[in-house]
Amino acid sequence: MKILVVEDEPKTGDYLKRGLLEAGFVVDLARDGPDGLHQALTMDYELVILDVMLPGLDGWQVLAMMRKAGKDVPVMFLTARDNVDDRVRGLEQGADDYLVKPFAFSELLARVRTLLRRSTKVRAAERLQAADLELDLVRRRVMRNGTRIDLTAKEFALLELLLRRQGEVLPRSLIASQVWDMNFDSDTNVIDVAVRRLRAKVDDGFERKLIRTVRGMGYVLEHEECN
Ligand code: CA
Repeated sequence: MKILVVEDEPKTGDYLKRGLLEAGFVVDLARDGPDGLHQALTMDYELVILDVMLPGLDGWQVLAMMRKAGKDVPVMFLTARDNVDDRVRGLEQGADDYLVKPFAFSELLARVRTLLRRSTKVRAAERLQAADLELDLVRRRVMRNGTRIDLTAKEFALLELLLRRQGEVLPRSLIASQVWDMNFDSDTNVIDVAVRRLRAKVDDGFERKLIRTVRGMGYVLEHEECN
């Protein structure tokens, strides 16, 4: 988990960096607005902790430019001013949280963890992934190694099921009931054909095969890391 801290006050910046490092995060520290903005735009962070009063560009400006550039990383504001207007303004501009200085490090850490948990959950709900295969549930799109794969609605549902339960051998009867709404004793040949078609689209041309047949049992999607 990588965090960017933008803070011009040397003592606070060093204190934050050291504390977050000790808590197990990877931390970059920027000492002014332009440097903070540059790092936020060029690197990938899970969270940005942004001081409001900064030289060069203030925290509001940095946040506004980040959002304009399409960076939707969670942002937590830090400020010395305990001002309701500031808080409202920050949240209106798309900050995710707001912490007034001076604060206890334990409080900052608790809020950091909450923000990270929240954003990870949102991402997890929208995307399923295995190795270089990614299924985007919102856009209804499947990518492998950066190339788009076109699937029928049934193939998409089948792949979604395999991805949600990756590493688990799924019997044909279960696939039939989940994807086709069919009963146990239905002709499972339909499933074999569909899996074969899906596999041709997802695995052909790739060295690493993700969908496997487990003879007499069913199908499983797995890659080396989950063995
Ligand atoms: Ca400051």
